[in-house]
Amino acid sequence: MASRTARPSLHALTLRLGAMLLLGALSLGAVGCSHSAAGGVRVVASFYPLAWAAERVGGSRVSVEDLTPPGVDAHDTSLSARQRADLETADLVLVLGDFGFQPEVERAASDASGVVVEVARGLALTPSGEANLEFDPHVWLDPVLMEGIVREVAGGLVRADPAGRSGYRRREAATLRDLTALDGAYRTGLAACRFRTLVTTHEAFGYLAARYGLTQLGIEGLTPESEPAAARIQAAVDAIRSGAAAPAVFFESTAEGRRVGESVAADIGVPALPLGTLESVPTSGDYLSVMRANLSSLQEGLQCPS
Ligand SMILES: [Zn+2]
Repeated sequence: MASRTARPSLHALTLRLGAMLLLGALSLGAVGCSHSAAGGVRVVASFYPLAWAAERVGGSRVSVEDLTPPGVDAHDTSLSARQRADLETADLVLVLGDFGFQPEVERAASDASGVVVEVARGLALTPSGEANLEFDPHVWLDPVLMEGIVREVAGGLVRADPAGRSGYRRREAATLRDLTALDGAYRTGLAACRFRTLVTTHEAFGYLAARYGLTQLGIEGLTPESEPAAARIQAAVDAIRSGAAAPAVFFESTAEGRRVGESVAADIGVPALPLGTLESVPTSGDYLSVMRANLSSLQEGLQCPS
């Protein structure tokens, strides 16, 4: 009798099977949603450009969680307990590198059980000259270096989910074509500008400036500061007043960046123009459309014929 009560009846098995099928269907339906623990290849990205690349290349096979919240810069992103658990159990973890850009995320990545990819590992990085930050991290703002990031993300997806290889390679190629077109638009659009030096708030555009023959003069450093040094503000003001830099202040798209940029621009009487750093998810559009909007801002501020 004991063995008979321990064995589930055929009816109970049928019910359980039905429930499992239903759960399976629900999981499939959830693929592609952010923050979803259900179904698909689970990717955790340390900040927006890596999440964008994973979504573009991963398509509907992946669910992507971006660890950096909207409206902030990605430097020193901190982790909640839930985010840390997600990172430790994800199929694929994407970080920029291990050089002090996001120290808490970088440390947590070393405890992750899935595939971990440092997407900037193979790129030629510029030393930062700042304490606790080995290199200038802002590689994603150069469309050509972003192509290298997309290749690393695609490679990571193939390693984490070999069955999805053909789709990943197909979407990788399409994303690379978009970035090549973006690079072409920058080359053409910035070829004949009246000014070639730009004053920025957060000094995030060094790689972009080097790519297209521009010079960047940052009011803040490679790491955003709420109270920039008076000497740096003065140097920027002098460069604009003397005509060495374009008559505009480009500000990063955080509340703090806007405040600093608009205040310096108002003091000199020049326009403040937005230049998104893409360090967190944009309020509208995506990586490509913000980069196109940045090009328009640069063409306006540097006075480039379009
Ligand atoms: Zn930055």
